[in-house]
Amino acid sequence: MFKEITRSNIKQLRPYSAVEIFCRVKLDANEAPYGLVPGPMTIETNRYPDPEAVVLRRYLAQTLDVATENIILGNGSDEVIYHLITSLGGPVLYPAPTFVMYDIIARTLAETSVSVPLGYNFDLNATATIEAIRRDNPRLIFLSSPNNPTGNSFNQDVILEILRQSKGIVVVDEAYQPYSTMPSMISMIPHYKNLYVMRTLSKVGLAALRVGLLVGAAEGIEELNKVRLPYNVNTLSQAMALMALKDGGLIEQNIRTVFAERQRLFEGLTRLNGITAYPSDANFILIKTDDAKTLHQTLLGDGILVKDMTSTLEDCLRITIGRPEENTELLHALEGVKGVKMAVDSNAL
Ligand code: PMP
Repeated sequence: MFKEITRSNIKQLRPYSAVEIFCRVKLDANEAPYGLVPGPMTIETNRYPDPEAVVLRRYLAQTLDVATENIILGNGSDEVIYHLITSLGGPVLYPAPTFVMYDIIARTLAETSVSVPLGYNFDLNATATIEAIRRDNPRLIFLSSPNNPTGNSFNQDVILEILRQSKGIVVVDEAYQPYSTMPSMISMIPHYKNLYVMRTLSKVGLAALRVGLLVGAAEGIEELNKVRLPYNVNTLSQAMALMALKDGGLIEQNIRTVFAERQRLFEGLTRLNGITAYPSDANFILIKTDDAKTLHQTLLGDGILVKDMTSTLEDCLRITIGRPEENTELLHALEGVKGVKMAVDSNAL
């Protein structure tokens, strides 16, 4: 399926082959004789990384209950998006508003993109999306679920209908899935040969490492490997990601904090007059207010930075769930803003 629609120049490529042969004396790769003196982590900085990141991929595969050949890693999922569009070309379809990199990378690679406005409650507009699929025959569809910047998960029945209607590859971007109560679509992969699921370690405490992944049929992973540069995930990132995943503590702590704080922040925001907070399955909350630009500036004056979304969503700001004390500070700052007042509960009077 993936191979059939891969651009012909890519189809003819062979992936860069860096077969790892373990030897006592290693004099094959023009590496330097000495690396940094190892600290607590034994990392040989004079050696190239494992180009296939086998140990990390194997561990991720076990965790996600798939085979190692069903996983490709990227230098962040941004790079995975780059590889997907490079391999398949356009048209690239996505709902709007959504994560901006689908469009930016499609344009960078001179591919056309097609955006379909989201429907009621920021969910997918099934009719309009299927119409666009029939009209434009996209080779690639990106569905960020939960969606950035709206925070909601998309209706899974609609995603499945899109998978059935599409002759192209459908990538469900589950960057925020750890913060969602909806199940992952990874278990559906055996049933839909055009379904690929993208994940990232960036949202669970490891953004600095730049590790993103794509899960799907080995056939597509093989094609993507042809455009992936050999050492795209560096040794430190491979080692630290593995350490963090095995330990589990940091990821758990972030998930627990976001679930609890999202609920508290949502309730706090909902109690404020002049602000509408939208329910979220992600680690951020989208809000709407009368004059979002002014509110953005006011918060900035208080040393609090939220994301101005007004160019894509009228009068909307996106607030990342922070540490408890940061969220409390934000709520206090909002309470002090003119035009945003605590709603008075008449029952309490
Ligand atoms: N997908 C979505 C929906 C995102 O919001 C982001 C980060 N903003 C990414 C992918 C990229 O994540 P990374 O490159 O850090 O893995």
